[in-house]
Amino acid sequence: MNDDVFKDKLNYQLLDSFVRQTPVVVLGHFVVASINIGLFWQRVNHTFILAWATFLLLTGLSRWLMKNQYQRHQQRWTPGGWRRLFAVNSLFLGLAWCVWGLYVGVAIELGGLGLSIIIITAAGLVAGAVASTSSSIVSYTCFSGPTLLPLSALLLFTDQMETRGIGLLMVVFFAITFRQVQRINAVLQESIINGLKLEKSKEETEKLAQELYQLSTVDALTSVTNRRGFNEALNSEWARAKRLDTPLTLLLIDVDFFKTFNDSLGHPAGDECLRLIASMLTLHARRAGEVVARYGGEEFAILLPNTTGKDGVKIADDICEAAARLNIKHPASDVAEHVTVSIGVHEATPRDVGGSEELIKLADHALYEAKAAGRNCVRSAQQPASNTVES
Ligand code: GH3
Ligand code: MG
Ligand code: MG
Repeated sequence: MNDDVFKDKLNYQLLDSFVRQTPVVVLGHFVVASINIGLFWQRVNHTFILAWATFLLLTGLSRWLMKNQYQRHQQRWTPGGWRRLFAVNSLFLGLAWCVWGLYVGVAIELGGLGLSIIIITAAGLVAGAVASTSSSIVSYTCFSGPTLLPLSALLLFTDQMETRGIGLLMVVFFAITFRQVQRINAVLQESIINGLKLEKSKEETEKLAQELYQLSTVDALTSVTNRRGFNEALNSEWARAKRLDTPLTLLLIDVDFFKTFNDSLGHPAGDECLRLIASMLTLHARRAGEVVARYGGEEFAILLPNTTGKDGVKIADDICEAAARLNIKHPASDVAEHVTVSIGVHEATPRDVGGSEELIKLADHALYEAKAAGRNCVRSAQQPASNTVES
């Protein structure tokens, strides 16, 4: 996660939390507006009330539509674009209450109780906005400023000391709530950042664990699966074959006269030979689930799920021929001038057999027979002896 992605995620999460408050905000305004209309219906011009209520309703409705748009097509705008859009909507809401406060509370010269209701309404809405809008300081300011400040300014310029005092109190109230919103916003951002960092380190840990697992199951010399990886693959393929009642075939492949190869050409040449044999083997096991593994030393294993012993023997024959085509010179082999392999093949149907050890044991036995038969050949317990590859 680079810095920009991180910043985008943070901004989108702040917007998510802002948008989640939409039902409360819209409903809250609807309820407070209804109460105010009910209280002042007798004293305020009905055309004004209807025009004002329509404006507030449309603003609330557009907030709802914007919420739906944001949730469905978040990527349509950048977080900054969405933030501006919501801020404009908050400004419209603030202006609606500003007009209500000025017109109803001051212009028609309500005294005492009426004015108190207007002030309490404005202060209550702003207090509610602290909780519902603190994820966006801009939106909060766009709403609270127009709702509180023009009304308090008007009160400050009246003749009466009491109303001037109330006006001053409202300005102080605005300053306190603004500071509070800044604090809540900072805490919210911090908790989102911590969450994102945690998510990032979890991703990194999982990636690392995956890499470590890869490393722990790969043979360093030949890059095919190692014995540990083979055992895991065998266990899972055995279980799958048992579940599906399909055959599983194992090829055990041993390089012939490898000791003398090392003795005559040196260990590094032996290593190179193993690498060539391994990569040749991978060409013969390319279907999903097929595994080539270094079983140990100069011995390899190929696991062939959903494959019969007969098909396994064909693949083994192909491998012997491919080994001949590799034509790795072997000056000390008794069977050919190049490196050859012997292969034991065994098929098992896990539902009929006790465990996977049986498969290994019988494939190993077949390999032993191939060695005994002169090497450079394939043997299988289920099949008649296949041809020895002519060199
Ligand atoms: P056979 O035909 O009966 O299989 O005889 P072999 O010589 O191949 O078998 P043996 O078990 O006698 O010898 C295996 C040799 O493989 C001995 C060992 O030094 C060599 N070897 C095992 N692992 C490696 C390796 O990683 N690199 C190299 N260069 N040689 C290895
Ligand atoms: Mg050998
Ligand atoms: Mg061996």
